[in-house]
Amino acid sequence: MAVNFEQYESILKELTANQVKLIAVSKTKPNEDLQALYDFGQRAFGENYVQELVDKEASLPKDIQWHFIGHLQSNKVKYIAPFVFMIHGVDSEKLLQEINKQGVKQNRIIDCLLQIHIATEETKFGFDGHALHELLVSGRVASYSNVRIRGLMGMASFSEDQTLLSKEFTLLKSYFDNAKRAFPGGHFDTLSMGMSSDYQLAISKGSNMVRIGSLLFGARNYSK
Ligand SMILES: *Cc1c(COP(=O)(O)O)cnc(C)c1O
Repeated sequence: MAVNFEQYESILKELTANQVKLIAVSKTKPNEDLQALYDFGQRAFGENYVQELVDKEASLPKDIQWHFIGHLQSNKVKYIAPFVFMIHGVDSEKLLQEINKQGVKQNRIIDCLLQIHIATEETKFGFDGHALHELLVSGRVASYSNVRIRGLMGMASFSEDQTLLSKEFTLLKSYFDNAKRAFPGGHFDTLSMGMSSDYQLAISKGSNMVRIGSLLFGARNYSK
């Protein structure tokens, strides 16, 4: 088992001081690691793969808050809709529609974050500023009765260039502040940005939810 409890405590202290919520990203990690961190007090976990999430949900404690943070295909929403706590990677309106449909079926309201494309890389999914604006001014969101858009999520470029990352986080924060005006009522309150390598910078730019994996659980091994 490779959970770094000391690191966990020091990160948690730092986050609490800044009123930032920690999502422990446990993808590829065995149930024992999640259970160990759970026993230490952590309740919010993040997963990227539907099948892995479904399996973990079935065998781990029922009061875990499961955050789906990966790229979600529409045809798989139904598997996580009964229990998922928040879906971070909503990167198209088609996906939003499907989440709403499954929310209706499950008779629950599913919290979502819209994923915004801020990185320079072509491979990252998400709305751009224009598409986000179009969606918000269209008023269509109000017709989705069983999703609640809680905020935005973004991933910065895979880079160590602090100036670039800073620019990307600042851009996402400005989208967040603008979009907030389109959601009166106080539900639009979450800005999910920052991972192991850049969470401190993300917090300094206004993040209030960070997704941290390798600092807590060690490096991931995809070869198994
Ligand atoms: C894997 C992953 C993380 C965590 O990455 P670390 O570098 O291990 O902290 C955060 N967000 C998303 C979307 C991820 O896929």
